[in-house]
Amino acid sequence: MPTTTEYPTIKLFNTMARAVEVFTPIKRGQVGIYSCGPTVYHDVHIGNMRAFIFADILRRTFDYADYKVTQVMNITDVGHLTDDANDGEDKMIVAMRREGMDAWDIAKKYTDTFLKHCRLLNIHRPDYMPHATDHIPEQITMIKHLEEKGYTYKTSDGIYFDTSKLKDYGHLARLDIEGLKAGERVDMGEKRNITDFALWKFSPTDSKRDMEWASPWGVGFPGWHIECSAMAGRYLGDHFDIHTGGIDLIPVHHSNEIAQSECANDCRFVNYWMHTAFLNLKGGLKMSKSSGDFLTLDSIIARDIDPLAFRYLCLMCHYRMGMDFDWEGLKAAATGYRRLVDRVQTLARDVDIALVTLGGYAQEYIAKIDADLFDDLNTSKVLAHIWTLLDDSKLTSAEKSALVARYDAVLQLELLTHEKQEIVVPTEVQELIKAREEARKARDFNQADELRNKIVHLGYNLKDTNGKTEVIKL
Ligand code: AMP
Ligand code: ZN
Repeated sequence: MPTTTEYPTIKLFNTMARAVEVFTPIKRGQVGIYSCGPTVYHDVHIGNMRAFIFADILRRTFDYADYKVTQVMNITDVGHLTDDANDGEDKMIVAMRREGMDAWDIAKKYTDTFLKHCRLLNIHRPDYMPHATDHIPEQITMIKHLEEKGYTYKTSDGIYFDTSKLKDYGHLARLDIEGLKAGERVDMGEKRNITDFALWKFSPTDSKRDMEWASPWGVGFPGWHIECSAMAGRYLGDHFDIHTGGIDLIPVHHSNEIAQSECANDCRFVNYWMHTAFLNLKGGLKMSKSSGDFLTLDSIIARDIDPLAFRYLCLMCHYRMGMDFDWEGLKAAATGYRRLVDRVQTLARDVDIALVTLGGYAQEYIAKIDADLFDDLNTSKVLAHIWTLLDDSKLTSAEKSALVARYDAVLQLELLTHEKQEIVVPTEVQELIKAREEARKARDFNQADELRNKIVHLGYNLKDTNGKTEVIKL
């Protein structure tokens, strides 16, 4: 990295501080990012994909700013219990029962779909995608350190972390520990404190699990939280720059990661905590894999909607704002996205973008767009600037292409290259179009209008230009 490089000021909302802060890297020109990845016991849903699109925009923003990025995203293939804290069954066991497959095949099946959905959404493959089951020794070593330092205790079902040993446990979530204690009604079993969590769970004595390992404490499997701490440490070191996830992870998973990493390593764990707000179904319905009540990217594709229209929809909303999903909203985004692609593709196509010199006026656009991108990743404002510049007659067509290309490196909407989507018109609509043509020829315009209404009702429309009729999908 040349020492003369000037890095732009990037501001990010840090959940730990509850404020937007200027990003200062641990090592100049470098950034380490750990993003909590999927639990592969079911299809990833579009809420999960929103969190991964956010993590992707974050890494691509740093790429754009010329940082050397190391991004790690784990695959949780063991230990995530149905109750995120410590109780319930391992989600993989629930999936085995549901599908009659062994745990390893379940993990493979859903990791493959996750990767497919990432490709369809242009999500950059993280530099490392470690599986929890491939890092059991690191997790055991970390638990041993915690044990040596007196942070653990044993119950009949596992090894637990004693959160009362920390003065500031739960600070990330601003947990009211006294309030939690006062409200303790749940059965804590053998746990000493309500917030204590499992580091290692013992296998049942009367059956054999598909996924289990020997450990100094007995045969069993790791808790979900220790996986992320151990893998983050393995690939990014004990102290790194940014950790991401959805907001649901703040009170338990991320609070526990901080507790065990900082106690095991005697140093600060992460400098910036970033969280994506939830995508819910309109009407306040929470999407959850465990209830089976969720939409996937496949449900979007089945409706013949471009997956990148979903990426566009996510980018139109700031990542810290909750998103209410419904089909109308997605269809409107798909129309907007298609218009944007069409508009960009009417620009001069025979231009070598690398050779375009951007004049002073174009540079002003860069300053404005950079400011919004680097202001806590305001992608909706970046998109608004792109729409504006396309209509700006003071820019040449080549400059417009070059500016769009520059920011599409971050947005990844394929604005200059996306293939025109071929519309597959259903037979029913084709017949209505034919009948409408005949009605028009017979100058029966009332009948022609009625037929057009039927076509619109089926989700298509017609544009009559220069004696030709073009079919548009609504
Ligand atoms: P999971 O597969 O449940 O472990 O979740 C993977 C990632 O998706 C985590 O960062 C979650 O916080 C995030 N997530 C889960 N549900 C949603 C949702 N409805 N909207 C946004 N992010 C979510
Ligand atoms: Zn995690």
